[in-house]
Amino acid sequence: AGIVRFEDVRFAYNPERPILRGVSFEVPAGRTVAIVGPSGAGKSTLSRLLFRFYEPQSGRITIDGQDIATVRQDSLRAAIGMVPQDTVLFNDTIGYNIRYGRWDASETELREAARLAQIDRFIESLPEGYETPVGERGLKLSGGEKQRVAIARTILKAPPILVLDEATSALDSFTEREIQAALDRVSRGRTTLVIAHRLSTVVNADEILVLDQGRVVERGDHAGLLARG
Ligand code: ADP
Ligand code: ADP
Repeated sequence: AGIVRFEDVRFAYNPERPILRGVSFEVPAGRTVAIVGPSGAGKSTLSRLLFRFYEPQSGRITIDGQDIATVRQDSLRAAIGMVPQDTVLFNDTIGYNIRYGRWDASETELREAARLAQIDRFIESLPEGYETPVGERGLKLSGGEKQRVAIARTILKAPPILVLDEATSALDSFTEREIQAALDRVSRGRTTLVIAHRLSTVVNADEILVLDQGRVVERGDHAGLLARG
């Protein structure tokens, strides 16, 4: 389950300025499709439409054949896990931030999620571990640490569909490799849409779409796109 389809989707925030000009693609169940393209191409807009923050002007978006226009937004949020570019954490403990949305999660599940996101060692180095408050009231986390908390939260929620808005370009290369490994782990076996800025970070995607000015201008796998330059 978890097949995502965009069918000739057109969208504009403002009628004079079309942003998506007929975008079609499918993410087969359990596969990874990456959208790459220059800034302003409309990549993030695609993910906003998938969450129904906006409705397409024409065309449709389906999940397992069902038009998402008929699906409640909270059901979509339950089915789709998002690791955003800039993770905003609650002004609460690290544990709360990982558990968010999964109140029933056990301590064992929490630790396993933290371990998979490679933050367990970091948490153990803190005096009160998971109970340590983040944000204004406590610990200042780096961008990479915040992103790991978001990844751990997503691992714990185990949604059938994932949207990864890649932000590894802002990280140093060591952190970037670690975050990339954690993201690869979360996406294994899940239907995954990756929004990426560089081709080099989506080597493992089953299909890569190049979006430019709201149109898919090329598609293929990593080797194929590199060969075409
Ligand atoms: P990308 O993710 O590829 O950088 P976006 O989807 O964020 O592109 O943006 C595509 C275009 O839509 C950009 O020109 C951007 O300025 C415009 N845009 C994005 N969000 C809004 C908005 N809320 N209102 C109006 N224009 C927007
Ligand atoms: P959860 O389902 O984990 O409780 P939310 O209901 O807050 O989380 O949001 C569902 C997903 O949508 C989250 O993963 C979140 O990152 C993403 N999201 C929420 N608000 C926005 C937004 N304004 N723009 C882009 N993504 C968002």
